[in-house]
Amino acid sequence: MILPDAAGPAASLVYTRAMLVFLDYDGTMTTHECNKIVLQRFVGDAWRPLEDEAKADRMSHAECFDRQIGLIQAPREELIGALVAEAEPAPGLAAFLAELEARRERAVIVSAGLQEAIAAVWSREKLPPVELHASELVGGGPEGGPPYRLAFSDVLGDCPRCGPRACKGAALRSLRRPGETVLVFGDGASDLCPAREADLTFARSHLAERCAAEGLEWRPLADFATVWAAVDAWAARR
Ligand SMILES: [Zn+2]
Repeated sequence: MILPDAAGPAASLVYTRAMLVFLDYDGTMTTHECNKIVLQRFVGDAWRPLEDEAKADRMSHAECFDRQIGLIQAPREELIGALVAEAEPAPGLAAFLAELEARRERAVIVSAGLQEAIAAVWSREKLPPVELHASELVGGGPEGGPPYRLAFSDVLGDCPRCGPRACKGAALRSLRRPGETVLVFGDGASDLCPAREADLTFARSHLAERCAAEGLEWRPLADFATVWAAVDAWAARR
């Protein structure tokens, strides 16, 4: 799926190498973690023990999110509507994506989040086009309602750490073109596998801690308005 229409061919104005910008959605491109806020609203604290299991590496983040979504009993429209209503684009995001488009670099969002909700946010905010690989919300009940499960994007692959068909690192390997410089943007445990393969990672929250612990090449992600200056400074030193 491409939001809202196909991006042009990659042809960098600044770099001799084309660039792939690999973006997480929830908590990275949004000001807060919409999934957690919406889970809390619909299921109370019941989502938290699963989150603790995943944080302690006793459960894959994919299984964790699938089981958390499975706890929700709200009608589909109400669930999607809440996810869209909570989403506020991160500071500088629209200008960052516009610059990306002007530089004719390639951007992809790879997310376990719900495609329906992300597409609705893009449309509401009139954000520049980005290729989107996200989850389908599968509802086993009437009108696509609960019980829910997630059908993760086919672009995700297998990994001992992330689980079967749940690794964003495998997605990065299948999406990147030979010779591309890869920038990864993320905040969570599921972003660590792609960060390990990135040339440069912009991280906040849990991912920032993991990047620091592993000695990866990374920069803190605060405001997207500062990203291009950081990328240009990094590229100039290479
Ligand atoms: Zn993985």
